[in-house]
Amino acid sequence: MSADLIIRNARPFGGAVQDLFIRDGRFTAIAGDRPADEIDASGHIALPGFVEAHTHLDKTLIGMDWFENRVGPARNDRILADRKAKRELGIDARRQSARQIAQTLAFGVLSIRSHVDVDTEIGIANILGVIETREAMRDLIDLQIVAFPQSGMLQREGTFELMDEALRAGADVVGGIDPASIERDPVRHLDAIFALADRHGKPVDIHLHEPGDLGAFCLELIIERTRALSLQGQVMVSHAYCLGMLDATRQQALIKSMVDEEIAVMTVGSPSAPALPLRLMREHGVTVASGSDGIQGTWDPFGSGDMLERAKYLAQRNGMANDADLEETARICTSGGARGIGLAGHALDEGCFGDLVLLPARSVAEAVALTPQNRTVIRRGRVVVASGEVLGSMPAHE
Ligand SMILES: [Zn+2]
Repeated sequence: MSADLIIRNARPFGGAVQDLFIRDGRFTAIAGDRPADEIDASGHIALPGFVEAHTHLDKTLIGMDWFENRVGPARNDRILADRKAKRELGIDARRQSARQIAQTLAFGVLSIRSHVDVDTEIGIANILGVIETREAMRDLIDLQIVAFPQSGMLQREGTFELMDEALRAGADVVGGIDPASIERDPVRHLDAIFALADRHGKPVDIHLHEPGDLGAFCLELIIERTRALSLQGQVMVSHAYCLGMLDATRQQALIKSMVDEEIAVMTVGSPSAPALPLRLMREHGVTVASGSDGIQGTWDPFGSGDMLERAKYLAQRNGMANDADLEETARICTSGGARGIGLAGHALDEGCFGDLVLLPARSVAEAVALTPQNRTVIRRGRVVVASGEVLGSMPAHE
């Protein structure tokens, strides 16, 4: 356990200057009488650690040779290219996941949910690789692993059994993918993944890119199964583009059902995908999280994994510009993400984990708009990044 830590002159969420105290890895209301390390935050803004609620750690090419992308634009082209790259480039899931974590730790990302491929070519090798990283870096990051049938489960015989094996091996969440357009059989696909969730007592996180009415139909099936298995608070729908493509009546009905069943939504705020009705969702009380999705991979070469930058993208994609709106996107990338992936003790309050990011900015809105880089990151009361530099050696990423 780290020594106690006193952080002088911090401004939680851009508010008044105050001192923060961390004892035994958690915030306390007052300084204890034990000796403590002390740092001066110099009036910087304190936010809870950023939550990366959706990425693909096993597929980033960070630190590898430049991948000349000749892949077509369709999702299926990308899935095929992805499987081919895994074979030909020798992407080591253990090493690559550690590299991405090391990169995003410097931005203040302290919690990650990563989808990790399970398919009949690689089996559960990527799951085992990322589990190794999870163990090697557990003092630096909370990492949830989603067993993800990227190439389809019904489409490729044996994948269901591999998903089961991945969950037994230590994956934390059951993943799913486009039950109609990829799997061609939404009822069977969703029955299969909810059966896995029920069998293993694990939450569900489904990639749902299906558009319009087709997406709405799949979402209704997800809502029905969440209700039937009493999985409230344990289901996340990633992307859910359909919510931005429906008439107002249907949109509101779906949003209301999602609130009733406590189904969270993860949105990237991609400039090339339909925008979600973010304001409406937040007004109704839908838990909204955000993530980078894959960064620097064979799908596309973009992304840094900085969740403060992601807050800015969300604001831009959704026409949000005033200070309150920008603060809202910062909350989506911190507390919204924590709620969405089921993290407890994620706030700057007494009793919560002593995790925070210090940002040199005058307001949260300015931080979102300008994304300052020289951040200080504290995890469980230990300074792990000082002025943008990761302290100490990073395990497992060479
Ligand atoms: Zn994804």
